[in-house]
Amino acid sequence: MRGLTKDEVEKKIKQFGLNVLQSKEKISALKIFLSQFNDFIIWVLIGATIISGIMGDLADAITILIIVFMNAILGFVQEFKTEKSLEALKEMAAPTAKVIRNGKVEIVNSMYLVPGDLLILESGDKVQADAILLEDNSFMVDESLLTGESVGVYKDSKENKSNAVYMGTTVLTGKGIAKVLLTGMNTEMGKIAHMLNSIDTEKSVLREKLDALGKILVVMCLVICTIVTVLGIVRGQDPYTMFLSGVTLAVAAIPEGLAAIVTVALALGVSRMLDRQALVRKLPAVETLGCTSIICTDKTGTLTENKMVVKKFYFDGNIYDESKNQNEILKKIFVYCNNCDYNFQGLNIDKCLFGDPTETALIKAFFKSPKELQKFISKVRREFEIPFNSTKKMMSIVVNEDGKETCYVKGAPEMLLNKCTHILINGNIEPFTYTYKKSVEKAIDDMSYDALRCIAGAYKIENIIKKENDLECNLIFAGIAGIIDPPRKEAKDSVIECKMAGIKPIMITGDHKNTAYAIGKQLEICNSLEQVITGEELDRFSDKQLKDNIDSYRVFARVNPKHKLRIVKTFKSKGKIVAMSGDGVNDAPAVKEADIGVAMGISGTDVTKEAASMILLDDNYSTIVAAVEEGRKIYDNIRKFIRYLLSCNLGEVLTMFLASLFYLETPLLPIQILFVNLVTDGLPAIALGVDPGDKDIMMQKPREKNESIFARGLKEKIILRGSLIGICTVMAFIAGKYYGMSLEACRTLALGTLIMSQLIHVFECRSERYSLFEINPFTNMYLIGAVGLSLLSLIAIVYMPIFQKIFKTVSLDLGQWLIILFFSGTIAFINSLYIFLSHKNKK
Ligand code: ATP
Repeated sequence: MRGLTKDEVEKKIKQFGLNVLQSKEKISALKIFLSQFNDFIIWVLIGATIISGIMGDLADAITILIIVFMNAILGFVQEFKTEKSLEALKEMAAPTAKVIRNGKVEIVNSMYLVPGDLLILESGDKVQADAILLEDNSFMVDESLLTGESVGVYKDSKENKSNAVYMGTTVLTGKGIAKVLLTGMNTEMGKIAHMLNSIDTEKSVLREKLDALGKILVVMCLVICTIVTVLGIVRGQDPYTMFLSGVTLAVAAIPEGLAAIVTVALALGVSRMLDRQALVRKLPAVETLGCTSIICTDKTGTLTENKMVVKKFYFDGNIYDESKNQNEILKKIFVYCNNCDYNFQGLNIDKCLFGDPTETALIKAFFKSPKELQKFISKVRREFEIPFNSTKKMMSIVVNEDGKETCYVKGAPEMLLNKCTHILINGNIEPFTYTYKKSVEKAIDDMSYDALRCIAGAYKIENIIKKENDLECNLIFAGIAGIIDPPRKEAKDSVIECKMAGIKPIMITGDHKNTAYAIGKQLEICNSLEQVITGEELDRFSDKQLKDNIDSYRVFARVNPKHKLRIVKTFKSKGKIVAMSGDGVNDAPAVKEADIGVAMGISGTDVTKEAASMILLDDNYSTIVAAVEEGRKIYDNIRKFIRYLLSCNLGEVLTMFLASLFYLETPLLPIQILFVNLVTDGLPAIALGVDPGDKDIMMQKPREKNESIFARGLKEKIILRGSLIGICTVMAFIAGKYYGMSLEACRTLALGTLIMSQLIHVFECRSERYSLFEINPFTNMYLIGAVGLSLLSLIAIVYMPIFQKIFKTVSLDLGQWLIILFFSGTIAFINSLYIFLSHKNKK
C-alpha cells in the first residue's frame, strides 16, 4: 500500500478543504477593545468628566478622556496578546494522524487529512476522519461520542455493515488500516458539528477568588470615596470638582484589572512552559502545578531514555551476551511476534524500523540489514494476533509457516512462565519441572537486578484454536531477552531537585520489581527494596491499609492501569496534590483523576492526551519538574503584582482619605490620580508578571492547595506598606505647606512622593523573602524599562510647560526632590535593611 502522493494530497486539499470542524467564532479585535470599556465605573467617570468639562475646564476633561482611552489600549494589547497565544496553543494541541503516503509512514496534523489517505489506527488513537477499514486485527472502537452507547464495537474489514469507522471515535483494542472517505464538515461528526475540546480555558480557582475579592474591594472603595466627596462638599469645596475627585478616586482605587491580570499571567506562563516543552491544555492547571506534592511517573521513556538495546539472552539454562543471537526459535518468536512497522526503502536498519522501542530493539538484536529481515519475515504469513496490553503484559501471534500454523508468544517473564507446560532445552522439548522453573526464575532475577527489562518468549505448534483463551496456554518456554534502557542523564538531577522542593518523586512501572528497583536506585528515587512494592502485593492491601502504608513506598512495579488509578486516589485521599503521567489508553482514568494529569507527547495515545491537563512534548521527566517550577513562579508573580497593585491603590485612597480627615486641601487632583494609576502604575505591574522569580524557588515546600492568595503574611504586607505610602504622601504635602510652598507645588510634591514610593516599592515586591539589597534589579529588564518610562513621564509632567498646564504641576528644585526622596525612600530603606540584617544574623 503506497497511499497518496504529495501532489495528490495538495490537489485534494484544494478540492475538499481542510479536515476541520467549523470552530467556534474567532475573537475579534474590536470586541476585545470595546470590552475594555465594559465597566460601570469607567462610564460614570466618562459621564462625570463630560459634565464637568461642560461646566468648567474643557482641557481637563479631554485629558482625562485621553488617559482613559490610553488605559483601554494598554488593556486591549494585553488581552489580545493573551488570546492570540492561547489560540496558537490550541493549534499546537491539535491532533495528529498516522498515515501512509508515498509508501512511507508519516505523522501529519489531522487537519491535512484528505479523502483517499490511508490511516494507520492503533489502540488509544482517536479516529480523525470518516473512513473504511481495509485491514484489521481484533479491532474494537468506542463510538459513544456518536451513539451514546458506551460498549465497545467490533469492526471487521470484511463485513460491509461493520467496516466503517467515524471521526471522533476511539480505538479500544487492535490495529487497523483504513481509507479516508470523508473529512471535515462532511463527516458524521461534522453533522453534529460540535467541536471536541482541544484546550480548556475554564476559569481558574484563583480568578474566581479574586473576582469575589474584587467585589468586596469595590464596595469598600465606594464607601471611602463617598466619604471623601461628602466631607469635601461639607467643607465648602466645589461640588463638581469633589464629585469628579470621588469618581476618579474610585476608578483609581478599584482594582478592576486584578482578576483579568491573573489570566494574563497564566497565559504568559503557559507560553514560557511551552519553551520548556510542556504544553498546558487547561489554564487552571498552571496554578495547581505550583502546589504539586507528589509526582508519579512511568519509568520507560520518562525516566529512561527509551533507547532500548538487547544486552543478554537466556536459553538452554544459561545467560549469554547479545552476540549469541543465533538461537533460531528465539529469533522467530521475537521477530514474528513483533509489531514493528517495517519500511524497507533504506539500507540502514535503524531507518527501516518504526514503532515501539522494545519491538525495534528485539529486531535489531537479530538483524543488521533490512534485506535479511525482509527475507526472513516473507517466509511466513500472519494469520492472527492477540495484541499486547499492559494488564496481561504479553502478545501472541499465529503465523502460517510452510502450511503449518505456529503460535509465538512474548511477554513479561512471570506472566509467561505460568502459561508454559514445557521448556525447550538444547533442542529437546521437556516438561517444565520445578527445577527448570527455579533456574529460569533465577535467571530473571539476575538479569533484572542488572536493570535489564526482560521479555520472555514461548511458542506452540499444535492444537491452535483461534480464540484468545485457548491460545496463550500450554506453551513451550524458549528463552528470555534482556534489554537495557539507560536512565536519562538529566532525570537524576530532576529527582534531587524534586526532593529539595518538598515534592516526593514516585515511579510507577509495568516492569519487573528488580528492574524497577535497579533504575529507581540509580536515580535516587528509592534506596532499599522495602520501598518497592508490586501490583500484586498492592492488591492484598485493603483501602485503609494502603492509605496507612502508602507513604513508605517510592516505586510501584508490575502494576497495571487499575493500580495506577488506585495509587492516585489513595495519595489524593491523604490530601496530597498529585501529578501523574501516563501514555497508554488505559492510563487515561488515572491521568484524569490526578490533580495534574500529564500525557506523553511522543508516545502518548490521543485518549490520554485528551484526559491530561498537560502534555510533555519530549516525554521527559525533567520537563514535569520544570513545569512545576514555572507553576510556582507564576503563582509567586501573581502574588507579586497583587501585592503591588493593592498597596499602591491603598496608598492612593488613604492619601485622599487622610487629607479629608485632617481638613487639608485635596492633595491630588483627579487628573493627577488618574495619571498615577493608569500611566505610572500599569507598566511596572505588568513587568512583575514576567519576573524570573527567586533563585531558590525550588528549595521551598509546596504551598497548600487551598491557601488564600494573601496567606503567608501578604495581607499584612499590603496593609502596612499601602498605609505607609499614603501617610508619606500626605506628609510630603504637609511638609510643602510647612515650608510655605504654593498649593500647586505641594501637590507636585505629593504626586512625586506617591509615584516614587510606588516605583521603589515595585522592586520590593519582586521578592517576599529578600531585601532590596539582595535582589539583582537587572534580572528583570522589563521592570527596569517600565520603571524608567514611568520616571520619564513623571519628569515630563513636572518640567514640560504643556504638561504642567494640563496636570497643574510646577517645576521642582533639588531641595524639593530631596523631600520627595526622603519620604518615598526612607521606609523602603529601613524595611530592606531590617530584612537584610535578619538574614545576616541567621547565617
Ligand atoms: P512503564 O509503565 O514504566 O512505561 P513498561 O513499559 O515496562 O513500564 P509495560 O509497557 O506495561 O510497562 O510493560 C510491562 C512488561 O511487559 C515489560 O516489563 C515487558 O516484560 C513486557 N512487555 C513490554 N512491551 C512488550 C511487548 N511489546 N511485547 C511483549 N511484552 C512486552
